[in-house]
Amino acid sequence: MALKLNIKDTFNKELPADPILENNRRQVRNACFSYVSPKVPSKPSLVHVSQEMIEAIGLKESPDSMEFLEVFSGTTVLPNTNPYAMCYGGHQFGHWAGQLGDGRAINLAEVVHSNKRWVLQLKGAGETPYSRTADGLAVLRSSIREYLCSEAMFHLGVPTTRALSLILTGDKVLRDVMYDGNPAYEKGAIVCRVSPSFIRFGNFEILAAQEDKKTLKALVDYTIKHHYSHLGKPSKGTYLRFFKEVAVRSMEMVVHWQRVGFVHGVMNTDNMSILGLTIDYGPYGWLEDYDLGWTPNTTDRTNKRYRFGTQPQIVLWNLLQLANALFPLIEEAALLQDILKEYQEDVEVAYLAMMKSKLGLFEKDDNDKNLIADLETVLQLSETDMTIFFRLLAKVKKNDVSDGLNTIQDAFYQPDEIKEGIEDQWKSWFSKYGERLKKETRNDTERGELMNRVNPKYVLRNYMAQMVIDAADEGDYKHLSELFDLLKKPYDEQPEQEKWFAKRPEWARNKVGCSMLSCSS
Ligand code: AMP
Ligand code: MG
Repeated sequence: MALKLNIKDTFNKELPADPILENNRRQVRNACFSYVSPKVPSKPSLVHVSQEMIEAIGLKESPDSMEFLEVFSGTTVLPNTNPYAMCYGGHQFGHWAGQLGDGRAINLAEVVHSNKRWVLQLKGAGETPYSRTADGLAVLRSSIREYLCSEAMFHLGVPTTRALSLILTGDKVLRDVMYDGNPAYEKGAIVCRVSPSFIRFGNFEILAAQEDKKTLKALVDYTIKHHYSHLGKPSKGTYLRFFKEVAVRSMEMVVHWQRVGFVHGVMNTDNMSILGLTIDYGPYGWLEDYDLGWTPNTTDRTNKRYRFGTQPQIVLWNLLQLANALFPLIEEAALLQDILKEYQEDVEVAYLAMMKSKLGLFEKDDNDKNLIADLETVLQLSETDMTIFFRLLAKVKKNDVSDGLNTIQDAFYQPDEIKEGIEDQWKSWFSKYGERLKKETRNDTERGELMNRVNPKYVLRNYMAQMVIDAADEGDYKHLSELFDLLKKPYDEQPEQEKWFAKRPEWARNKVGCSMLSCSS
């Protein structure tokens, strides 16, 4: 019996397909995708499902059924569907990389439920024409990270792709985690990712690079028709409004990242969703110590192109690449440049508003920008935990700010360092903050409650994910379930889970997977 899903494919029905059906690696032209079937895994087993996503896609059958396991492990293909891998290119670490594409992602089908469209995509389901030199597979370690983080981000209120299921394939996958010549076998896994669309900036870039204006226009028109239909029928004006809205959505996404302390790690243009969703959870990380220069990605350790503090600027750089790709349809560079200029102005305004909300500042004050810049300076004088700092800041009393430094004491990794010059700077900052709080009309309780809605109590700290991974590797999924549930309510007090409201333990400081991650996944 087949799973009952309301399948309504559009991408592979309305856009040009690669005519070659063989699954060999190749350069694809004049097409948006290639048909490909998932690899049949040797002994699949279900690890976890997101009940919310089961409901979102309108699935009535139990995820414990054989049918579910078969479809979402790639063992069987749903009737009347034609799985495919998408063709895209991208700028990687600032350089044009040519054709990339879904090298290990296979789109199964589109489902419409409750007026929402969802693409079901298996990540790690085997080779595609875009696999280049790699194997098309994914390991349990990186699949857990993607699975947990996409759901956690959703519950933090950050635009993101979602995850439906995590399945072990029963096959072994060879990986050299730190690229140091020590490859080892790991457990293979498949995440079913779910999103209204997985189209990236790179899908447009590859067509522009190939000077294939016809397919480029088809893809832009398709994207507008299905995902930006409120912008109107295809025209130059509509294309500009489309670019503007992508810019706004990408800006909103990155400002959320800065709010919760998320560092993507690989903001290449092939990892930028055209819907402004966080996509491709690879060597991402969560800020523990508030350090604008931090990146979790060891591959980027030298240049730190994708460090925390530069993420909003990188979005701008990526938007410029998208503008170049859309140019053939608009042909007026100045109009695209205006939108990029607006991004620069808007992102500053949005960042300021976001930081004000983290500090509980709701009234207008022209000096807030300086107060925030000063805070960012003091936060970086000594290792200070971002999540704990902002959560404790909500406890500071308007009329007793002299106690502020004590209130946030637990956020310091090296409390001994908070003396002399550093202590003076903190005290000076708290006294300015205290003065500023006097302007606020809300009382301490109201302000604290509002702050706790933008400053999460629980985030997926890097070492937490690693603990889940180590247990899961031994076949113990209890911790995975526990964290999955914890992160569904990241802003709530969960007294029984207080142990997760803690600084990163010392053992995790330099452990692989906790503070350092490579692209090997
Ligand atoms: P990423 O850095 O994960 O965004 O990947 C960049 C490109 O490499 C994308 O085209 C991926 O599909 C591809 N890729 C990454 N890992 C693999 C793999 N194990 N097998 C095939 N393609 C891969
Ligand atoms: Mg990617």
